[in-house]
Amino acid sequence: MRNHDVLNAIRKSVEQDDIELIRFLWVDHNSVTRGKAATRSALSSRMESGIGLARTRQASSLLDLGQPVPGFDAVGEVRLVPDPDSFVRLPYAPGSAGMLCDLVTLDGEPWAACPRTFLKEALAAAADYEVFAAFEPEFTLCAGKPAPGRLDLLDDSLCFDNEGFDAANEYAVALVRALRAQGLEVETYHPEFGSGQHEMTLRYAPAVRAADNYVWQRAFTRGLARERGLWATFAPVPRPGMRGNGNHAHLSLWQRETAGAPAVNLFADPADELGLSALGRHFIGGLLEHLPALVALTNASVNSYHRLQPGMWSGAFGAYGFDNREAAVRIPSRLRGSESASTNIEVKTCDSTANPYLALGALIHAGMDGVRRRLDPGEPLLEDPNRLSDRELRSRGVRPLPRSLEEAVDALEQDEFMMSVLGPERRVLYPAVKRADVRDMKDMGSPADFHTHTIRF
Ligand code: GLU
Ligand code: MG
Repeated sequence: MRNHDVLNAIRKSVEQDDIELIRFLWVDHNSVTRGKAATRSALSSRMESGIGLARTRQASSLLDLGQPVPGFDAVGEVRLVPDPDSFVRLPYAPGSAGMLCDLVTLDGEPWAACPRTFLKEALAAAADYEVFAAFEPEFTLCAGKPAPGRLDLLDDSLCFDNEGFDAANEYAVALVRALRAQGLEVETYHPEFGSGQHEMTLRYAPAVRAADNYVWQRAFTRGLARERGLWATFAPVPRPGMRGNGNHAHLSLWQRETAGAPAVNLFADPADELGLSALGRHFIGGLLEHLPALVALTNASVNSYHRLQPGMWSGAFGAYGFDNREAAVRIPSRLRGSESASTNIEVKTCDSTANPYLALGALIHAGMDGVRRRLDPGEPLLEDPNRLSDRELRSRGVRPLPRSLEEAVDALEQDEFMMSVLGPERRVLYPAVKRADVRDMKDMGSPADFHTHTIRF
C-alpha cells in the first residue's frame, strides 16, 4: 500500500513538473554517480524491470578503464532497480528527476558488487538497532571550471568570515531552498577554512537515507554551481597546500520506537563523563581495531592522502578523543537541550571520494565487530597529538594510519574481517580498481592528479 502511494506520488510529480527523463543512478567504486534514464512513458515498466547495465562498470577505474578482474569483461549484465523512496526532481536540470538504485542480478537478487546492498548488509548485521547517520561534506567553490594548474576561488574570505557568506549568498540560499524543496533539510551552513571552502550539513537520517541524501546534496551542490557558471568541487585537496575538504561521517545506534515508547539513542549515557554508553565505547573499539583497513574505504583516492595529514584536522591520528579534531574518531560534545539525541560518534577520516554506501557500511560492520567482541578502545586521547612526541603517541596507543592509497589498500587486504564482509566480488574488485588509480595517478604526475580529482568530484 505504501509503495503504491509512493509510486502514485512519483507519477503525479512526473506529470505536474513536466519530467521527461528519470535518471536511474548508482554510485561506483570511485564515488562517481552514474546512471541511465527512463523516459516518462517507459517509467512504470522500468520501475520493476530496471535498466540493464554491463557488470564490468563496477570494475572501472577513475579514468573509466575496465580492470581485468575475472568475470568482469564484455559479457554479463545486471539491472539498475530504483528505490522509489529516493525520487527527487533535479532543479538544476529542468525536465529531469532521479532515483538511486540497487544493482540486482537478472533474477532480481541483490548483486554482490552493489554498494547500496553492502550498506544494507551492514544494517542487517546491526539488526538489533536502528542506525542513524549523517555526512558533513566540505567543498570548494570556484569562480569557473578549473583548468589544469588553475583554480579561481570564489572568495578570499577567512574561516567563518561574514564576507565569505556574502560572496556566496545567492548560491547558498538557492541551494538550501532547492534541497529543502526535495525533502532534504539543511541544518547548518558556513564558509570554512581557507578561501572558497564551504560546508553545508543535512539533518541525520536512517543510514541508507543518509547516504542517499549525501548523493543528492553533492549533485545539487555541483549542479547549482554549474548553472551559475561557478564550479563546486568536493575533492579532498583541490590544489597543493590548501586545507582539505572532509566528509565526516556521524553515527549513532538507537533502540527502535515502539507503540508507546519513543526511540532511544543507545550511544548516550548521561552518567558517563563523556556522555557515551558502553555500547558506544565498544563500537569505537571496533572502529579503531579496523581503522587502517577502513581508511581504504573512507579515504578512497590518491588525492585523499594530501588531506589525511597531521595538522589538517582530518583525523590523521589513529585514536579517539572528546572534541579532538586530530583524532580519527571524535566524540562531539552534545548539544544543550538535546543531549541524548545529539550524542554520536564522528569519523573524521572520511572524504567525498569515498563511496558513501561503502564507507558507512564498512564503519557499521567494523563498529558492530567491536560490539560483538566487547572491544575496549582504551583511554580517549585528550590532548592535541601534534604536541606529543612519537614515543608519547606510542605509549598512548595512537596508531599510525596509512599515508597513501596504496598503503591503505594493503591494510585492507590484510584485514580478513573487512575482506570477508566485503564479500566475494567486492574484495577483488575494490582493490583492483584502487590499485589502477594509484598506477594511473603516478603515471600522470602531480598537477594532473589534483586536476582530475577537482573535476571529477
Ligand atoms: N577541513 C577539515 C577536514 O578536512 C575539517 C575541519 C573541521 O570542520 O573540523 O576534515
Ligand atoms: Mg568543517
